[in-house]
Amino acid sequence: MSGSSDRGRTGVFGGTFDPPHLGHLVAAQEAAEVLSLDRVLFIPARQSPHRMDEEASPASLRLSMVRAAIAGHDRFEVEDLELGREGPSYSVDTLEELARRDESSERYLILGADQWARFGSWHRPREVARLARLALLTREGDRPSAMDPGFEDGPAPEFVEVPMTRLDISGTLIRARVRGRRSIRFLVPEAVCRIIEVENLYLREIRSPGE
Ligand code: ATP
Repeated sequence: MSGSSDRGRTGVFGGTFDPPHLGHLVAAQEAAEVLSLDRVLFIPARQSPHRMDEEASPASLRLSMVRAAIAGHDRFEVEDLELGREGPSYSVDTLEELARRDESSERYLILGADQWARFGSWHRPREVARLARLALLTREGDRPSAMDPGFEDGPAPEFVEVPMTRLDISGTLIRARVRGRRSIRFLVPEAVCRIIEVENLYLREIRSPGE
């Protein structure tokens, strides 16, 4: 679609997506536009390495919600490869698998600027940066160049910035609103609202099983 690259440019957008919301869709859209991406892959994590002690909704439901959220967007696709993999869903494993499947594509890993602040402590971060260009979603006030991502073995990898309108929506906010019987209309796509209602999601706190 971009016409700027023969090899194709793919955005890789991972997350828990519990649930997918308008913040995710706007972020993916901005990245697609700014980086001239041919497609953005939404990749739900089976188990996010950043929240090993938290329980998420079943993977099958998160996958259905992502499908519903992106239906009709021609550049958005869902990729379920992390869901069948045991253990923490490391981006490096996902990027290696994507590179194996399609050597010619140029990949951009789309990350919230908040994730950049701890990127150096990711699993094999240099390899991640070798397999994909890093695209940081920056909202007004974010200064990723002033952040220290914590690389102890040399300078941090390069990144590109994708400025986006600040939308203070998160999975945490949506779940809390549902639990508090508040409306989530206009914060998540209608089709996602329907799945949340039909499946009775988020009505009880399931994320801290020890409590
Ligand atoms: P939670 O509150 O459960 O952590 P989340 O929506 O912040 O929910 P994920 O579903 O894991 O978390 O998000 C996937 C990716 O989308 C992350 O890189 C995150 O930084 C980014 N993201 C989430 N919400 C927004 C938003 N409102 N604007 C920009 N990026 C976002």
